[in-house]
Amino acid sequence: MQPNFEPLEVFLEICKIPHPSRDCKNLKEWIKQEASQFGVNIYEDEIGNILCSKGTPKVCLQGHYDMVYVGESKDFSIQPQFFTINNQEWLKAQSSSLGADNGAALACMLLALKYFNNLECLFTIDEEIGMIGAKNITLKPQSPFMINCDSEDINEVVFSCAGGYDLKATKTFKKIPIPQDFKCYAIHTQNLLGGHSGIEIHKNIPNAILELAKITEATEGIVLAFFGGEKRNSIPVNATLKIACPPHHTAFIETLPKESFSIHKLQSSKYEGYDCKDLIKALLKVGNGVLKSSNNIPILSSNIGILEQHQDNFTFFLMGRGNEESLMRENIQKQQSLLENLEFAVNLLDYYSPWEKEEGELLFKVWNIYQKYNPDSHLKSIHAGLECGILKQKYPHIHFISIGPTILHPHSLNEKLDISSFKNFWDLLKKILKALT
Ligand SMILES: [Zn+2]
Repeated sequence: MQPNFEPLEVFLEICKIPHPSRDCKNLKEWIKQEASQFGVNIYEDEIGNILCSKGTPKVCLQGHYDMVYVGESKDFSIQPQFFTINNQEWLKAQSSSLGADNGAALACMLLALKYFNNLECLFTIDEEIGMIGAKNITLKPQSPFMINCDSEDINEVVFSCAGGYDLKATKTFKKIPIPQDFKCYAIHTQNLLGGHSGIEIHKNIPNAILELAKITEATEGIVLAFFGGEKRNSIPVNATLKIACPPHHTAFIETLPKESFSIHKLQSSKYEGYDCKDLIKALLKVGNGVLKSSNNIPILSSNIGILEQHQDNFTFFLMGRGNEESLMRENIQKQQSLLENLEFAVNLLDYYSPWEKEEGELLFKVWNIYQKYNPDSHLKSIHAGLECGILKQKYPHIHFISIGPTILHPHSLNEKLDISSFKNFWDLLKKILKALT
């Protein structure tokens, strides 16, 4: 038997309209058309965010209407299917991501406009490709409170997210001759896990670039080539080091674990390498991984994401995150001065503030409602950027929280929506709206 309740029906309608990031106009038109039946004023800005307003708004619900489409179909279609595991009912799409992130929230937002007065709903565009909607928003919500509906655990109320920054450090190194008795190797990392540089930074996942930097340091080798990493915001999986190694350290290289490193001997045809001891020092000392925690949750971290080499010039990019502005600023200064002391040119490429914990009426009321529903639910601070972090910068006078139904493995073929959590989320949201509007 298929479960049935109103938000689920609306969500299944949303699934019929393809809406991958960059190509979600059809869903935008559909949302506007649906909302227009409920006596709302609809505003749209240039980038494509929509604000629906009804009565004298006391609270604004917010969600994004694009989705990460992973799947085979060229027309981005979604075929939802119900299934049960251990008496728990789930919804998943056949051979694509489901788009419950953030379609489940959109369904509840439309129904909130149908059944409640004095509220706003903000539908943002292209959140999944760099929070483009939030960054370019020009709409002016009137509510004192905003509830972001893009969290993925029904037992959590999120009240803080991390800010972030990108540092670029670059330096040119002298060439030095390679002594004749040195042996040359090419070493590639393999089978490293990688991961998200924010949400997974506490897992101590080995960083491919740093693993090779440690080998360089331990063998006192001369670097011939060194580069690696994929994205500045992910923990590097792949890196390559070509190194000339003194004879008394070759055994170290040859006995490196084969599951993590593939090692090839090179013909020693090169006579020069780079005197880049300070590069290795910088990589190993600048700070990588969790730098500070509070109650076992990271509140300051740094991830060396990419190392590039153009002949004698080496450049690396690191991304720092912090849940407190002061901590983050302090760390930037520390990292900058360490790198400048090693004569790197350092640039701060991007900076955005964290959404710091805020206590007030909104959190108090929502938290009370959540506690009554489930005494085990908890308050959470996230060590990654959220859309409400960007929106908080735009609307500093508005108070924010973030909640949502339980969604597993978003952005993948395995994305699943927990049906009972979806039902409970709608019930909780109705209680919250009753208390606030
Ligand atoms: Zn989302």
